[in-house]
Amino acid sequence: MEMPNFNDILYERPSLEQFRDCALRVRLKIMTAHTEGVVAAALAEFQKELSHFETHSALCRIKHDTDTSDPFYLDELSYFEMADAVVSDLSSGVYSALLSSDIADVLKAEFGSMIFLKAQNRKDTVSTEIINDLAEEASLQNEYDQILSDSLIHFRGQDYSYSMMDPFLESTDREYRKEAHEAVSHFYSENSSRFDNIFDQLVKLRSSISTKLSYPSFVELGYKRMERYDYTPEMVLQFRQNILKYIVPITTEIRRLQQNRLGVSELKYYDLPVIFANGNPKPCISVDQFHGAASRMFQTIFEKDPSFYDVLYQHGFTDLKARKAKSTGGYCATLVDYGIPFIFTNANGMSDDVTTLIHEAGHAYAAIRSVDSSAFIECISPTLETCEIHSTAMEYLSYPYLENFFAEDADACRQLHMTQSLLFLPYGCMVDEFQHLVYSNPEMSCENRHQIWRELEEKYQPFLDYDHMNFYEKGGAWQKKGHIYTDPFYYIDYCLAQVVSLELWDMSRENPKKALRVYDQLCMEGGNATFLELLAKAGLESPFSTDIIKRVAYRACDFLNL
Ligand code: ZN
Repeated sequence: MEMPNFNDILYERPSLEQFRDCALRVRLKIMTAHTEGVVAAALAEFQKELSHFETHSALCRIKHDTDTSDPFYLDELSYFEMADAVVSDLSSGVYSALLSSDIADVLKAEFGSMIFLKAQNRKDTVSTEIINDLAEEASLQNEYDQILSDSLIHFRGQDYSYSMMDPFLESTDREYRKEAHEAVSHFYSENSSRFDNIFDQLVKLRSSISTKLSYPSFVELGYKRMERYDYTPEMVLQFRQNILKYIVPITTEIRRLQQNRLGVSELKYYDLPVIFANGNPKPCISVDQFHGAASRMFQTIFEKDPSFYDVLYQHGFTDLKARKAKSTGGYCATLVDYGIPFIFTNANGMSDDVTTLIHEAGHAYAAIRSVDSSAFIECISPTLETCEIHSTAMEYLSYPYLENFFAEDADACRQLHMTQSLLFLPYGCMVDEFQHLVYSNPEMSCENRHQIWRELEEKYQPFLDYDHMNFYEKGGAWQKKGHIYTDPFYYIDYCLAQVVSLELWDMSRENPKKALRVYDQLCMEGGNATFLELLAKAGLESPFSTDIIKRVAYRACDFLNL
């Protein structure tokens, strides 16, 4: 197939009627089939319909996010709130038929066990009686996203989108950045009760869905939704304890040294983003030049010209620059019909922008490498902690090539990245523990949620000093984390991926070719196995091992001269 240009792909609202007809027809065929050939043909028919739906759902999301002021796509997005839930339920019906087929054993041998695991999981997490709840959940999540993308932060006489504030938040002028941080916290504290209200509705709704599906709480359902086939809340708890024990002391030392470097008598919350006395390294090129630098870098890493990145860029599958009326954050979404990923970021000239670009490019690379890994759309992409290894490991594999973006500041940039990676681990665990506490006690009041967040901060970030800023002192900072609203229990995935990526980084220092080979193999495997199985296949150790956390902590300290 000739590679299309992104702008030539026309969005059309996928018909639910057509999808329903197809799903019911396929379901019947599977239920009555006596040969695997009939089942294979029926599943192929269903996959085609599902692929069409998912492609246009992703297309709608991208079109909306690249111009949030367009009312057409905002309207279309709300169509998917219900449509996604219905499609989920109909898919569950198709896969239930697969599970209960008379020839299930033959089919398992033919298609592999992963699709059966996923079929069972779908059956355990979706049912017709919760379809309206799922649509309501999606609608509340969109409401949260919309508040953020509509938000304008008033700072020194001007209005800025949230993403555009980043450079001010790490200004070397202390008074200036203090004011910028206050402007952001002012925005959150003004909207605090709106955020509390959305979250409270989400917690109660998710808990009620769990009850309808006969789970003791949303914790169990949340794990199922995240498709955790081979690890439990107990293992995650042990992981968090390892981070507390081996990483938190390092981050406390990082902050102490930072305070010395900045020469301040007390390290306040608004000082935290500034790691170096003369400011964090900034790219030596403009955002418009990112493409050229990324192109050179990926050509060198993968020894290929043009690289996957060049092809995406040339066909319009990238949107990197921050601007008004654009959704916040960064992501990579694949248009399944074409097997092509789209890279979305909000770059405004910061070092983080380069990291985000490389991170999302890692997702894109994996999407392209795994495109033929399975006949099932559901199995092409692995579970999310593995996806986050694709992206996070790419950040480390790019270390030797950061000169393309930072010239003589590349070394400072590597130090900054490693520092931020270590600082992230306790933060990520804190977000995870917060969600465990919240969903184990869904009746908890909004104030109590703030209070437990503040207690967690004292445990995981003992150096925090909020400088009497009331909103944060009372535990409001969690409201800044979108995943808590929109992607429950996702956050620990980043931490697990971080540890495995550090393992790959360590390997790459001794044997870069081997590390690249292991990385490539993990990407090519797609989602044909569970998390720990995929790691074992690639020859990587599990992040649940205490030894591996101790080892990467030691190596990272050595790298940072701690
Ligand atoms: Zn990611």
